[in-house]
Amino acid sequence: MSHSVVTIGSHSSLQILHGAKKEGFGTVAVLPKGREEFYSQFQFIDKVLGYKDEDEAVELINSIDNGILIPHGSLVEYIGSERVKSLRIPIFGNRNLFEHEADQRKKMALLKAAGIRIPEQFERPEDVDRLVIVKLPGAKGGKGYFVSNDRNYIKSKLQEYIEKKIIKSVDDVIIQEYVVGVPMYFQFFNSVMLNRVELTGIDIRYETNVDGLRRLPSRFTGSYEPTFVVVGNLPAVARESLLPKAYNYAKSFVKAVEKIVPPGMIGPFCLESVVTDEGEIVVFEFSGRIVAGTNLYIDGSPYMWFYWDEPMSVGRRIAREIKLAIGRNELDRVTT
Ligand code: AMP
Repeated sequence: MSHSVVTIGSHSSLQILHGAKKEGFGTVAVLPKGREEFYSQFQFIDKVLGYKDEDEAVELINSIDNGILIPHGSLVEYIGSERVKSLRIPIFGNRNLFEHEADQRKKMALLKAAGIRIPEQFERPEDVDRLVIVKLPGAKGGKGYFVSNDRNYIKSKLQEYIEKKIIKSVDDVIIQEYVVGVPMYFQFFNSVMLNRVELTGIDIRYETNVDGLRRLPSRFTGSYEPTFVVVGNLPAVARESLLPKAYNYAKSFVKAVEKIVPPGMIGPFCLESVVTDEGEIVVFEFSGRIVAGTNLYIDGSPYMWFYWDEPMSVGRRIAREIKLAIGRNELDRVTT
């Protein structure tokens, strides 16, 4: 096969390239200089290309013959949203979604348009009438988030962030109802080739210190503010009766994206949710591409076995979709 699967060496690139090799593709990792030795250990990576700066990264990616780039959570972070626009090789998935992903308000609007239950949102601290989580823009892995039910506290904290130039104004943050329940991140794959939405797995993010506070008796935790810094992922399976509900949300989401962000959802996405004690799934965020929580399932999640009956990671699933598309001469339906 003459196509090569390319990705930036980070996030879920080992999974992506491992899966691509299993499906018969050439594989290329483009990464910041200094990481070459680590990635060169793996037999399934044909070429490891180190770059010294972001412009060189773009040059290297664009130079790969018959390359198909797989975006992941670190692509925009590593090379910048403007440079992503100058990538000339086909990108698996919908590149128009990147802009929506970068804007928390656009993100929530998309979920709302899909008729998915989302947390209540407050425009100003003065409007807050319950426990909320305040989210900073572009916060990496939950850094800087805080919870409060006190309007004055929220106001003064935001004022502090403005003075420290962490934000420009209150409009830069999202003030969202804090939903009490347990987090569950439902991972899906919209297959354009098979015309179906697959549930590819579920994970939970392991977040410090909020996940650590319950390890201490409450008399010691009172003086700590919970923080939400992601440091890892844990596997989960859901009570089976929750699955059709999550699936219906995924289908509605796919329909909404098709309408609002053409050509629609292609490949992996994730509905990041809290499940309440009434069995409600409340979605507070989505990712429109492969999430790091899929790295748990290199041999396939329990759900992937039901669809495929063979080891199928999301990385491999992406390559399988590309292979199906090439076989039908329809690569342009799965790339943008
Ligand atoms: P996010 O950056 O939106 O993915 O949020 C980071 C973390 O904050 C999540 O993994 C959750 O643990 C928590 N979180 C975010 N939004 C909410 C919410 N509306 N209710 C409860 N917890 C939330």
